[in-house]
Amino acid sequence: AKLQGRNHYQIYNSTINSEASELLSLENSLHYALERDELRLYYQPQVDITTGEICKFEALLRWEHPQYGLISPSKFIPIAEETGLILPISEWVLRTACTQNKIWQNILGHSSLRVAVNLSPRQFQQPNLVDTVQRILTETQLSPKHLELEITESAAMQNVDFTKEILTELYKMKVSISIDDFGTGYCSFNYLKQFPIRCLKIDRSFVRDLTSDTNDAAIIRAMIYLARGLNLSVVAEGVETQEQRNLLRILECELMQGNLFSPAVCTQEATELLLKSKSRLIDTSILAA
Ligand code: C2E
Ligand code: MG
Ligand code: MG
Repeated sequence: AKLQGRNHYQIYNSTINSEASELLSLENSLHYALERDELRLYYQPQVDITTGEICKFEALLRWEHPQYGLISPSKFIPIAEETGLILPISEWVLRTACTQNKIWQNILGHSSLRVAVNLSPRQFQQPNLVDTVQRILTETQLSPKHLELEITESAAMQNVDFTKEILTELYKMKVSISIDDFGTGYCSFNYLKQFPIRCLKIDRSFVRDLTSDTNDAAIIRAMIYLARGLNLSVVAEGVETQEQRNLLRILECELMQGNLFSPAVCTQEATELLLKSKSRLIDTSILAA
């Protein structure tokens, strides 16, 4: 009720207690997740929509909880943000993703492979973010051009001057930036022009009904047009069907990410996808028009 401002009320119901105690228990065990080695990075490929070639992997965090099993980031990242645990966790994510990309580049010879890491709003506001990124790149010896950082449109808009400053520093370091969940916030075109970004990720809520809703198709067409005008690349998120992929290709979207090609998978499976991609054994039937 408080969150809704003054003069509001909410009715109590008994599930509130069990939800609250589950959250409390998650919060307590999250303190130990890193030291107990319970965090895992999964990787979801972003592929060329025409050829199916893997260009990038997005690192997506999972928590292998001893009691609750695999927990999705949407559930525990908000807790991590609230408690400040997001900082050590994010540093672990960045280090693990950069190390893994370096291994893929060295062992499989995928020298241009990039890895994309999500930045939480709180992490983005940290004054030492740029130093941390620089330190981890040096430590892992990954070239900055092979790292992409994803920030959501709403995080970018929280403090526009600060965003511009940080993005400019990262740009000077040659780290790429993409705007995640594009279209769900309220990024003005004016800021889009001023931020040194490389890529727009079209939120999956637009892709979901793309083939049945002409409004969504019109919005995606406009986003792709806009990105091209600003010299940005475009990734469509959440592509699940061949029909969506076909339409996106007609709209000249370059890259896609979604369960049609592959959901987020563990390191071992991601390595297998790369090996198949490299030897061109990948099942291109799912990519056929
Ligand atoms: P996101 O960055 O927009 O990531 C895309 C989400 O969409 C992922 O969910 C992915 O598994 C899901 N997805 C991809 N393709 C499909 C599809 O075809 N269909 C459907 N239904 N879903 C699809 P996930 O892994 O649960 O991550 C949720 C969000 O949690 C991410 O959204 C990101 O905002 C956040 N997140 C994940 N990992 C990290 C991390 O390491 N750090 C931070 N700060 N946030 C993270
Ligand atoms: Mg993302
Ligand atoms: Mg997204």
